[in-house]
Amino acid sequence: MNLLIGSHVSFKKDTQLLGSAMEAISYGENCFMFYTGAPQNTTRMMIDKTLTEEALQYMKDHHIEKGNVIVHAPYIINLANNQNIDSWNFAIQFLKQEIERCEALHMSKLVLHPGSSVKLPKEVGIQNIIDALNQVITKNQTVSILLETMAGKGTEIGTTFEEIKQIIDGIHYNEHVMVCLDTCHIHDAGYDLNDIDEILEQFDQIIGIDKLGCIHINDSKNDCGAHKDRHANIGYGKIGFENLLSIIYHEKLKEVPKILETPYVGETMEDKKRLYPPYRFEIEMILNKKENEHFLSDIISYYKKD
Ligand code: FE
Ligand code: FE
Ligand code: ZN
Repeated sequence: MNLLIGSHVSFKKDTQLLGSAMEAISYGENCFMFYTGAPQNTTRMMIDKTLTEEALQYMKDHHIEKGNVIVHAPYIINLANNQNIDSWNFAIQFLKQEIERCEALHMSKLVLHPGSSVKLPKEVGIQNIIDALNQVITKNQTVSILLETMAGKGTEIGTTFEEIKQIIDGIHYNEHVMVCLDTCHIHDAGYDLNDIDEILEQFDQIIGIDKLGCIHINDSKNDCGAHKDRHANIGYGKIGFENLLSIIYHEKLKEVPKILETPYVGETMEDKKRLYPPYRFEIEMILNKKENEHFLSDIISYYKKD
C-alpha cells in the first residue's frame, strides 16, 4: 500500500506506544497519531523504555515507519493568552516536557493547536504564541512542532495560512516548525475543498508545501466557513467523499501521513450508547475509492462479535 493512512489511537498506561501501534495495525494502518495521556488534561505518565523498544520493533515488523507516527499535544494548553501568567508559564513547561517525552518515544512530530487569544487582541495572541514557542524550541531538538490549522471557533488563532506563516516567521529556530492541515478545520475556516489544487497552491505560496508534515482527514458536520469544528465520518459531512479522496490521493501529498480523527459510531442498547471505532471501515472505503452503504451496520456487526 502506497498511501500513508492511519488514525488517532489510544495510548494506555500499561501498553503505551506498543498498545497504540497494535491498535493501528488492527485497523489496517501504516501510520497513526496519539496523545501521551488524556487530550483534555495534562496528567502524564513516565515513558517506559522497554515498552518503547518493543513498540519500535513491532512497528518495524509491521512496516510502520516511526517518522510517520504523530504525537498530539493536549488541547487545553493555550500559548496565545497570558492574562494568567502562571497557566501560560505552565503551558510552556508542559510543552518542553512533552518534547522530551516525544524524544524518549523516538517520535519526531508533535501537533499543537496554536491557541485562543480569548480577551486579548488577536495580534497580541499571535505574539504570545511566538514568545512561548521561542522559549520551547531549541536549536538542536529532534522534534518538529506542527502548528494545526484551526476552524476559527471562538477566538482561535491559526485559521488562515497567513496567520500560521506569521507565527512561523517569528520563531528563531523555525526549521523545527511545520504545519498540520486539518480538512474539517480549513473547511470550517472558509477554504472551499471543491478546489484542492487552489488551496495547495495558496499553501505553497504562503507557507511552502515542504512545511506540510501531517494532514488530518475529517469530514465536517457544518457548512464551509461555519467556524464550528465538528468532525463527521468520511462521506457523511459537508466536504464529501470525493473531495476528501482528491486530497488523500493528491500527487503532491504522497509523503505526508494522513490521519483520521472522525467520530466513533454506534447504537443505543438498553439506554446505553455503545460506540465503536470507524477507522478500519473508513480506510477500507478510502482504499476501494468507493463509499460503503452498509458502513454503520458493518461496523456494529464487526465489533459486536467480541
Ligand atoms: Fe488537533
Ligand atoms: Fe485535527
Ligand atoms: Zn477539530
